[in-house]
Amino acid sequence: MMVMVKAFSYGLGTYEVAQVLEKEGVDYLGVANILEGVEIRKAGVQTPIMVMNPETASFNLMIKHQLTPVIFSIHNLHLFAKKVEKSKQLKPYPIHIKIDTGMHRLGIQPEEMDVFITELKKLSHLIKIESVFSHLAASDEPSHDSFTKSQAADFEKYSSYFISHFDYEIDRHLLNTNGILRFNEYSYNMVRLGIGLYGICADEKSQKKLKNVSTLKTKISHLIHVKKGDTIGYNRNGIADTNKIIATIPLGYADGFNRLLSNGKWEVLINNQKAPVIGNISMDMAMVDVTHINCCVGDEVTVFGAINTVSEMAQRIQTIPYELLTIISPRVKRVFIRN
Ligand SMILES: *Cc1c(COP(=O)(O)O)cnc(C)c1O
Repeated sequence: MMVMVKAFSYGLGTYEVAQVLEKEGVDYLGVANILEGVEIRKAGVQTPIMVMNPETASFNLMIKHQLTPVIFSIHNLHLFAKKVEKSKQLKPYPIHIKIDTGMHRLGIQPEEMDVFITELKKLSHLIKIESVFSHLAASDEPSHDSFTKSQAADFEKYSSYFISHFDYEIDRHLLNTNGILRFNEYSYNMVRLGIGLYGICADEKSQKKLKNVSTLKTKISHLIHVKKGDTIGYNRNGIADTNKIIATIPLGYADGFNRLLSNGKWEVLINNQKAPVIGNISMDMAMVDVTHINCCVGDEVTVFGAINTVSEMAQRIQTIPYELLTIISPRVKRVFIRN
């Protein structure tokens, strides 16, 4: 089991999730870049960490912290091998190989495979291939299932060809969260769990089985009465159609409360009742309509959570929960609860 802790664990923490996963015995952690991996190492985590898109300028740092790179081009293979040679490792340095089966983002192209294998073999005193993998482009979308199956068939073909050239064991992996849920037959030796760990998936039935993991909370900082016809917030976009009670919350777009949720596009929960956003969300604050809610300054406000979910929030503004979680800014305090 590899678990993705990239983008600071999908926005939820810097190293805390990685530490818990290490204690739970997860085999591998996955990050996007070298500095993310370094942060996790600095917190004392020793579990192997795969870096998906390692910056060539920081290869030395990657070696220093024993992070394992994904190599997705012949160019990067040579750059990396040079750094390994200079750093005088005691044994061949582990790497992962990504092959492109249709995502067309990163990966060795099938037609480069033979040259790539030849180059790898020349470097066998310096590097050791730990795994070969690929990534599905649309594992969550039934309308693309035939494409997903063709990606899986290509992966089977090219990865088998690849590993047949080496006389040691090389792991294979293909599935992300929705792949695990929908295409378990392609699990190979490992899966790469991401958003599912954070309580979210695309499939409605499976979603019911997942627990909510993160809640974004704040507190009412101010309450006022406004008269019918008054306007609320910047550019006077919020208009009181009756006399209203307005609560101000200390959470704005700089915290990751997306401005597209302004003007009624989202409702926060206060004392289990829905309070719609009124007016434009500003940088550090937003106003919500609490006319119908019995509440006081200091009352808890759930911006998203188990009931008003981040997935629903994402749908309202035509994005995905991944984005809304990962844009929550560092100034929002993360509190971890151990059950
Ligand atoms: C982010 C990522 C995953 C995890 O994806 P989820 O959809 O969050 O499960 C797996 N593999 C790769 C290569 C990724 O970039």
